[in-house]
Parts: sequence; structure tokens; C-alpha cells
Amino acid sequence: MRLTLFLDHACNLRCTYCYNGQKFSRPMPRDVARRALDVALDACRGPDLVVALFGGEPLLDLGLVRDVVALAREAAGQRGKPLRFHVTTNGTLLDDERVALLRENDFTAQVSLDGCREAHDATRRFADGSPSHHVVVENTRRLMAAGVRVRVVSVMDPANVAHLADSLDFLADLGVRHLHFAPNVLGHWDDDACSRMEQGLRALGDRYMERLRRGMDLRLDPLHGKMVTHLATEECRSVRCAFGQDELAVAPSGRLYPCDRMVRADSDDDACMGDVWSGVDAVRLERLLAPRRTLDAECAACDLRDRCTHWCGCANWETTRNPGRPSALQCWLERAFVAEADRVAATLYGEKNPLFMTRFYEAPLVRIGRRGA
Ligand code: SF4
Ligand code: SF4
Repeated sequence: MRLTLFLDHACNLRCTYCYNGQKFSRPMPRDVARRALDVALDACRGPDLVVALFGGEPLLDLGLVRDVVALAREAAGQRGKPLRFHVTTNGTLLDDERVALLRENDFTAQVSLDGCREAHDATRRFADGSPSHHVVVENTRRLMAAGVRVRVVSVMDPANVAHLADSLDFLADLGVRHLHFAPNVLGHWDDDACSRMEQGLRALGDRYMERLRRGMDLRLDPLHGKMVTHLATEECRSVRCAFGQDELAVAPSGRLYPCDRMVRADSDDDACMGDVWSGVDAVRLERLLAPRRTLDAECAACDLRDRCTHWCGCANWETTRNPGRPSALQCWLERAFVAEADRVAATLYGEKNPLFMTRFYEAPLVRIGRRGA
């Protein structure tokens, strides 16, 4: 089970595509965090509980992070339940103290870094408008040098998608080995932007192949995920996200949401499914889950339905307000990702590329897991 604690709505960046809405300071009170941990631990049937810190920028207040980690350890310790910690961060505040805390508590850090300087500074600037790339790059280096597990998420946006291939090179040279290019599904993708995306994806696939040919083992999503779905359809059916069931996101107010991306400014009553004091409201939860049980008619008839993330409740909610219905843009993007993944896979298979063959045909397949943010 995954419990996401949305530690604060405040953030020191002003990304052009931020889906969180208005920035305001509302740190999570300690009693809300403790109560959220109790709710999640009581509901957790799996072998461990993942405690994920999210925001806003969750590392703004180091004291709060320390206290929440201690509260989680205390609550889990009382029940004998193992914990894993995750943090999603914009990477601007990773000083020695924060890095030490993440390392000491065996965190997995998901750093938002949109790639090369041109790509990143086009979209991710500080509140005063100054660029953040150099800061995030330096801090990501520090994080990796300290031995913290790092996954980089880069948002593909109309403003930076022309730099996709250079961004892959930049991140690979930085030492990142697990990266996910995730589309901004709320962006203004007009014909020009879609055409830049198509060209960018092809160049991305080419650079990825070059890296593998040079012996660099790299996990690159969404291509990796789409290759897995080609080979292991049954498994992929079983790893769809846990939206509202094995996943609980908690706002600083204590309100509960089915996914971290749906907390936003904590003002969408239709997306809220209860609070930490009275628990999950079964009627509200059912209202969110029911639309996902019936496949959209177009998806039901589609050959790609088992390779597509049409089931992503939060992306669907953001774009169509229906957790079970993907938008036309998502459909187009999914088709583009599958086509590029198949082109790359066919080429590498034809070459019998050793890294590709090991990763996809010899080692057990790595689960595609939940969607990237
Ligand atoms: S770092 Fe995250 S929360 Fe902050 S502005 Fe950017 S997208 Fe929004
Ligand atoms: S969203 Fe589009 S590509 Fe995906 S299953 Fe539905 S129709 Fe097919």
C-alpha cells in the first residue's frame, strides 16, 4: 500500500505546467500526519507500507520531514510493519542535511528535472523567474554521490519537447539510469507541438539505441513500459494503478484523495473521498471507482488496450473529469509511445543487442509499476 502525505501546498518554483493550482502555505500538522499513518497502517494488507512525501515542495521544511519520518517509524514499529520511504522533489533544496536524512532513511528520490538546460529552464523556474537548472543538476549529483536511489522524471511539454533527445543525453551523462519522460496531458498540444513530439520521440528512440549499443544500461520510460506490455500482457493487466484502493493521498487538511495528483489545491470536493478523522467514505469512493470498471467503448475495441494507460484515473480525471475515460490527446500520445517503442524494440531485437536481450528476454521482466508524474 502507498500512503502519500502532501506536506505543503507551498513551492519555491513556478513551473509553467504545474497542475497544483494556487501556491499557498499550509503545512501538514503533525496530528494529521500521525492519524493518516494510522489509517493507512490499519488498511495495509501488503508486506510493507510505502510512505511517499509529496507537495508542493515536500522538502521546504526539514523539521516537518524529520518529524513525519519519526512518526511513521513509531506508528509502523508499533504494528511491526516494514516501511519504505519515497519523496517527489523539485531538487532545489537538497542541501547536505536533507541529503543525509534521505540517505539515512533509505529514501527513493524522484527528482523533477526536465533534461538539458534549454528544456528545463523553459518550464521550471523559481518564483522570481530565475532559472533553476544549474541548482537541480548540482543537487542531483550530490544525491547520487551520497548513494540515494534516484529516478528522474522529465515532463514533455510543448515548450521543451524539441529538446527530448538532447535531454536524454544530458541526463544519461549526468549518471541518471532510470528516467521517465511523462507528457503534460493538460498542455496546449496543437498540430505544431504534436509534430515536434513525433520528431522528438523518434530522436529519443535513436539516442536510446545509441546508448545501449555503447553498453549503457538505461531504463527509459515510456518506451520501457511499452516494450514490457508487448511481452507480458497478462502481467501488465495486473499492475494497473491502485487508485483509491491500495493508494491513499492525504492533504494537509486531512482530506483523503485516491491519488497524489488529485490533491492539488484541496478544493475539488468531487475528488475527495473522506478524511483522516472519519476514514474513507464508501459512497464517495465508489463514485470514483465505478467509472473505471467499464471500459470506454473505443478502448474496448482497440488493439492497444492492454498496452495503453487508458486506466490512469488521475490523468483521466484531470482531462475528462471521468476516472474511466481517457482524453483524445492521451489516446494520441499512447499510440505514439507504442509505435516508437515497437520501432526501437524491433531494431534492437534484430541486432540482438546484448543489453536489450538480457533486459527483455533473459532477466525476469521489471514490472511497469504505477504511472510516472
Ligand atoms: S515543483 Fe511541482 S509543485 Fe512546484 S511549481 Fe513545479 S510542478 Fe508545481
Ligand atoms: S486510449 Fe486510445 S490507444 Fe488507448 S486503449 Fe483507448 S482507444 Fe486504444
